[in-house]
Amino acid sequence: LSGPGLERVRQARETLKKVFHYDDFRGQQARVIAAILNGEDVLAILPTGGGKSLCYQIPALMRPGFGLVISPLIALMADQVQALIKKGVRAERLDSSLSMEARYQLWDRAQNGEIDLLYLSPEALTQGFVLDKLSRLPINLVAIDEAHCVSQWGHDFRPEYRALGKLKALFGKVPTLALTATADPHTRADIKKALHIEDAAEVIDSFDRPNLSLRLMRRTGSAQKMILDILRRQKNASGIIYAGSRDGAEKLAGQLSAEGFKADAYHAGLPAKVRDDRLHDFLADRTKVMVATIAFGMGINKPDVRFVIHADPPSSLEAYWQEVGRAGRDGRPASGICLYSSTDLGWSLRRLAMREKETGTDLSVQKKKALDFFRFVHSPDCRRKGVRRYFGEAAGENCGTCDHCLSRAPVVDATEAAQMLMSALYRFNSPRGRKKLIEHVLGQNAQDYGSRLSTFGCAKGQYKADFLTDVLDLCEAEGLIVEELYDGKMPIVALDRERLTDLIRGELHLELKA
Ligand code: ADP
Ligand code: ZN
Repeated sequence: LSGPGLERVRQARETLKKVFHYDDFRGQQARVIAAILNGEDVLAILPTGGGKSLCYQIPALMRPGFGLVISPLIALMADQVQALIKKGVRAERLDSSLSMEARYQLWDRAQNGEIDLLYLSPEALTQGFVLDKLSRLPINLVAIDEAHCVSQWGHDFRPEYRALGKLKALFGKVPTLALTATADPHTRADIKKALHIEDAAEVIDSFDRPNLSLRLMRRTGSAQKMILDILRRQKNASGIIYAGSRDGAEKLAGQLSAEGFKADAYHAGLPAKVRDDRLHDFLADRTKVMVATIAFGMGINKPDVRFVIHADPPSSLEAYWQEVGRAGRDGRPASGICLYSSTDLGWSLRRLAMREKETGTDLSVQKKKALDFFRFVHSPDCRRKGVRRYFGEAAGENCGTCDHCLSRAPVVDATEAAQMLMSALYRFNSPRGRKKLIEHVLGQNAQDYGSRLSTFGCAKGQYKADFLTDVLDLCEAEGLIVEELYDGKMPIVALDRERLTDLIRGELHLELKA
């Protein structure tokens, strides 16, 4: 930073002390604020709990006019506005509940420089007269929270965010600050394009969350039983369990309640009032465990969530990190436990294919993200390293607390085992059930017609069935095989012959934690 830049940061720090009573900026806050005060557009990727709000609140307070803040969650906005008012900040919220009268008064105050921050939902912007009015008011910055929602590639695309593309044209000279906790390089480029801030400075804070210990566990038997075991060890701590469907969330919440846990379900199918009540029960510790779909969590700031469990795996590493990131915001140790099974990836891919057919949209990026996630699941590397690498950061040291770091199992080459399984599938020349295929290479089921093939028993005495199960899953994540449904229910796996050549030629090396 040069002289004027340093001076501006000094002034920003004064505001931080005076209004928010904090001593200094954290992480990348100062860099973001300096760039905004310098009139630049910024895309800031700061971890959940990293203090994104101050990045726009402070510059908005320091300059004439007011800051326009677009945030997707109405309930959250109300809380933020309340908290700001308590600190003496003139914050306002524009929502549909405002009377005509109140609205006019709000516009007048905005015009007269009597407000500092105006919060708005993306839906409100879709009304033409709101945009028209805003374009004539003294706005000093445009902040877009949860900016990943603007990208179709992000894990949480929201159609109403599209309207935000118009903002740059309307407020050309005003700096735009797009904020999110998770966006891989692909999504970052897409956000900038959609918001027309192609030249925005990217300020990226480390994705590392040293207090989180990560664990991925293969689902063996009933997920419910595994979850109960985990909860019993958590001793009444607050936690979130993510389920893949509304029904699944309801059912699991019911089962946990029946076992004596204070659990509730949360999903978009519930009436707003019920959701609100349940959220408040959770925040106030009346409910300990929230079993939820992805509808729960964006922006929820409960610092002492001690664990996040994925009962069903998330759609991407971005979603995973965002969801796990809701644990341990207070900086104290917290854990993320994700359950997975062999059929999860196939299920995700089929669902995407179905949606593609229904909507006519290309979801290949989402499919790639699903594969990437499962490659992460089966990778033998430190989990924290895997996440950092995915987000384009230098991987750094092993975390020392994840399932891989803690396990003594060695990393072994799985290439040969994969070659055996894939050759067998090739010989069969038709899709097979996973279990049948494994039995075949182990030479178990001599009655099967496959016993006449040369691959029968090729892995016998060399590999164990459990290991081969992992290898098959890894092959699927690597795109060597795809899962199909036989008779609409039994999962079977089919070979992707094109990708097979990479494996046969030895261009693809596979490793697993044994
Ligand atoms: P998020 O990035 O998840 O939106 P918030 O803006 O809600 O995070 O901030 C998370 C918490 O950290 C808030 O309680 C906030 O007051 C606090 N915080 C933010 N910046 C600082 C700072 N520089 N010093 C101390 N506390 C801070
Ligand atoms: Zn680790």
